[in-house]
Amino acid sequence: MRALPWVLLLVAFPAASLAVPVDTGLGPEPYHTWPTLTADMAALAAAHPDLAKLSSIGKSAQGLDLWALEIANFGGLTGEEPIVYLDGTHHGNEPLGMELMWSIAVRLLNHYADDPAMKRIVDEDHIYIVPLVNPDGELRNQRKNLNGVDLNRNYPFHWGEPGCDHDPGSATYCGPSAASEPEVQANVAFMDAIKPDIYVSGHTGSVLFIHPWSWTTAPPPDAGTFRSIDQNFTGRNAAA
Ligand SMILES: [Zn+2]
Repeated sequence: MRALPWVLLLVAFPAASLAVPVDTGLGPEPYHTWPTLTADMAALAAAHPDLAKLSSIGKSAQGLDLWALEIANFGGLTGEEPIVYLDGTHHGNEPLGMELMWSIAVRLLNHYADDPAMKRIVDEDHIYIVPLVNPDGELRNQRKNLNGVDLNRNYPFHWGEPGCDHDPGSATYCGPSAASEPEVQANVAFMDAIKPDIYVSGHTGSVLFIHPWSWTTAPPPDAGTFRSIDQNFTGRNAAA
């Protein structure tokens, strides 16, 4: 059922907001990096062949795969399921965006069999999760990608408008041109292909649930839907 409109959400999420501390998939190290995430995503997909598929949506500037987990009840897919897309850690020094999205994948798959809520989500939705959009930055604990570009400000939609900086030394440098960076090119092509009904991107740094628009203060056409989602989400955790 394609009942949901296209929505674009940006969620800033603190560690303390992981209100249900079960089966997060976290290992002994505090955060994944690209090598450990690669191994863990492959193992998770292999453990759930009927519910998960691992693929790469493209490569980083350094040449590291941008891994995607596709999660659905593949045997029962009708093609009418809402497409949900979750990604994380556009900013390499915000690894909790990645861990949040990874922990959602773990919980959906490892508790499909024993948690009716997880089963319902997987059965009724078609979910894609790219936990780590900026692996080069995350390996270096730096905000920007290997080319020194703020990936979150490199997208072509209203690229280069106020809210970004054209100075390469700036933390919010939007790059030399729209979608100049391979990570952004990969994510744009991926979203064009899957056409998500809901998109949530995990960041940290502020305890906020941000919804469009950001380039203008005018409300989007579906502001009421966003407000409803906002209130549902923030009512369950510490975000504002
Ligand atoms: Zn961020």
